[in-house]
Amino acid sequence: MDIQGLQKMTLLDYPGKVACTVFLGGCDFRCPFCHNGELVLSPAPAEMDQEELLAFLKKRQGLLDGVCITGGEPLLRPDLKGLLEAIHALGYPVKLDTNGSHPRALVDLVERKLVDYVAMDVKNSPERYPETVGVPGLDVGPIRESVGFLLEGMVDYEFRTTVVREFHDSDSFRAIGPWLAGAKRYFLQSFVDRDTVIQEGLHPWGREELEAFAAIVRPWVPEVALRGVD
Ligand code: SF4
Repeated sequence: MDIQGLQKMTLLDYPGKVACTVFLGGCDFRCPFCHNGELVLSPAPAEMDQEELLAFLKKRQGLLDGVCITGGEPLLRPDLKGLLEAIHALGYPVKLDTNGSHPRALVDLVERKLVDYVAMDVKNSPERYPETVGVPGLDVGPIRESVGFLLEGMVDYEFRTTVVREFHDSDSFRAIGPWLAGAKRYFLQSFVDRDTVIQEGLHPWGREELEAFAAIVRPWVPEVALRGVD
């Protein structure tokens, strides 16, 4: 399998673990605020193949204690199962980042116990989902299905939203709160502008507004916190 990128060590991506992060290119969404535009918009060149990644992980046994798989959207890869089996065989737990648009693939990997932690993006209220992911007319059904599955608690998980001034307001969180009712944890991540963002001219909200949005969700979810806020 082609691997588009590898961050060799991160303390931030996998809660409680020293991990590496594997980037798999390609995505079915076009979120204007996406930081990985180069992974999403064009077929990004491979940085390494699966064998090279597994050789790296073998060398780091005892130094790393988890592997994050991110994208793009990893669940688009038909060969993901084989990669996760090989990573597990080396003794690493796996965190999977997903946009939630492929519930059947998600359920399958969880049922096979190939994923230990799922971080799913909840991009916005169902009403504003299409514009927020850059896909006019998007069917939110699969997203709802993924949320419903994770809420069943078969695997440890978090939901998270990258909050952008141009896409999110109080109404977004008035809808997200009840939608995620009973979830374990939810994070609001402040948008950070970078050169690699798909659309120029987007802005973050300030800490005060983000705190107010978090307060709207808190009655529904026991653990709500901000990430990436100065
Ligand atoms: S933010 Fe995630 S879901 Fe959206 S385009 Fe980028 S990789 Fe895809």
